[in-house]
Amino acid sequence: MVRQDGNGIKNQKEWDPSKAKSYLTSKYEVADGLSAEELFDLRKHGGLTYNDFIILPGYIDFPASEVELESKITRNITLKTPFMSSPMDTVSESEMAINIALLGGIGVIHHNCSAEEQAEMVRKVKKFENGFITDPVCLTPNHTVADVHKIKQTHGYSGIPITENGKLHSKLLGIVTARDIQFVEDHTIPLQSVMTVDVTCAKEGVTLEEANHILRQSKKGKLPIINSKGELVSLLSRSDLLKNLHFPLASKSPDSKQLICAAAIGTRPDDKVRLKKLVEAGLDIVVLDSSQGNSTYQIEMIQYIKKTYGNKLDVIAGNVVTREQAASLIEAGADALRVGMGSGSICITQEVMAVGRPQGTAVYRVAEFANRFGVPVIADGGIGNVGHITKALALGASAVMMGSLLAGTAESPGDYFYHEGKRLKKYRGMGSLDAMERGSEKHGNAAEKRYFSESDAVKVAQGVAGAVVDKGSVKKFIPYLITGLQHGLQDVGVRNLVQLREAVAEGKVRFEFRTAAAQVEGNVHGLYTYEKRLFS
Ligand code: GDP
Ligand code: GDP
Ligand code: 5GP
Repeated sequence: MVRQDGNGIKNQKEWDPSKAKSYLTSKYEVADGLSAEELFDLRKHGGLTYNDFIILPGYIDFPASEVELESKITRNITLKTPFMSSPMDTVSESEMAINIALLGGIGVIHHNCSAEEQAEMVRKVKKFENGFITDPVCLTPNHTVADVHKIKQTHGYSGIPITENGKLHSKLLGIVTARDIQFVEDHTIPLQSVMTVDVTCAKEGVTLEEANHILRQSKKGKLPIINSKGELVSLLSRSDLLKNLHFPLASKSPDSKQLICAAAIGTRPDDKVRLKKLVEAGLDIVVLDSSQGNSTYQIEMIQYIKKTYGNKLDVIAGNVVTREQAASLIEAGADALRVGMGSGSICITQEVMAVGRPQGTAVYRVAEFANRFGVPVIADGGIGNVGHITKALALGASAVMMGSLLAGTAESPGDYFYHEGKRLKKYRGMGSLDAMERGSEKHGNAAEKRYFSESDAVKVAQGVAGAVVDKGSVKKFIPYLITGLQHGLQDVGVRNLVQLREAVAEGKVRFEFRTAAAQVEGNVHGLYTYEKRLFS
């Protein structure tokens, strides 16, 4: 029988619609799209970046809200969302690191400042939230109301346990909180006369769950934990219960419940001194900040850190863009690799040095190799929208590092200013002359270390200084990235990042190269005017 297909063309074969899917498995059928391996066949297209390809849709049988974004960002640390902020002085200081950690990611504190300033920023992140506060600030009954105000100003809290000698492990005599001193005008009054002596306490050995229960029941703001001799051993704060309630994705150390914090350092000898200060402040992850990470300095630094700090500190090494570079750093003991050279939005490395690699290919090639050893890869630079995040993860990255996308938020350092009616914030490359000058001024020299040689008579910039538009608060922006990414993965047809990686490796997730015309088509086009609002 001669039939007609959908277009009215005569067709000799019987096509049974109820078996449509089975025809696709025939060896004569050409599968749609390419596997990642075929797409990144270097002989075909050369180096590719995110905009050069698209992911073909899969099958949806679950809601986007069920897509889980949990991901390992180092060998030992798993986060609920795969977002990291760049160690840049216009992106990541404590404010950014705290807020991004509360939302499930992690901030990497920059090092374009003195070691002391950087350590203070790390300390602030670590102190922001706690389970048991194991080193609470204490005072003696002879300290004054003024001392409590001073602590409130410098540290941000005023719930102070009063002990015999003003230290931990000394007999608890009382507690002073904001309400005890609210209406006291004479700041020279000793705390003895304002402190509460009848304090609700819990005994040492109590679990965090039990202690939280007592705290809730007592309706007090603080719960001191004491030993059998009545000496203070730790403190619990009600505000932490609320933070825990409001930020269920928060990146926290399993024991202390403190936020996880990362910071960047260079690979010079004095960076070892800097690192010691950061570790004392509670650092969890150190990022070795180098634009070309495959160097003797970096290998020695990784080995030194692993020998000195063992498993207490994870090392993210880099940057690398080739498997050869990656292999050196994996062998040295790296717990994760940062991938990207010259793909950053503020970066002129490829133009000036003629060295680097298109970011899509760099991520795919390095991740494919590093993942074999269980070493996660972080796609750093060039993330300009949510789609780029989905693509970077599909290429094997375990997390993305963002500079420009997070610059211009309320939590990034610097003040807003207006230019031609737009509200902007400064954003600059750490290899810009602008950043280097601040580094020298502050005795930090991070930019100089990462991008310049001390001995150079002429400093060759590898980045520019500019501005980005106001993006509001990361408290709204990160949830937008989370939801956007969940929808992207839903369209791909995967429920989590492990499934995504497996499906890509098995060639089930299909990709297609995009011509220049296809890229134009894939963006807004043909409109006279439009407003691009990304989320509400
Ligand atoms: P899980 O949710 O069962 O895995 O347990 P968690 O380790 O998250 O929490 C154990 C207990 O500690 C629960 O009672 C939590 O409410 C509490 N908890 C978790 N994070 C914090 C925190 O930052 N501060 C305080 N005080 N309690 C916390
Ligand atoms: P307070 O009532 O003025 O003490 O402040 P909150 O209870 O609102 O906030 C205290 C926050 O600071 C909590 O998240 C604590 O975990 C944190 N924190 C960190 N270190 C200390 C400390 O030594 N003492 C106190 N009171 N809080 C600390
Ligand atoms: P973005 O997210 O803005 O595209 O890129 C941020 C990344 O660019 C940073 O994480 C860092 O790796 C890189 N970067 C920061 N400053 C400079 C610079 O001055 N020059 C170069 N080459 N890269 C930079």
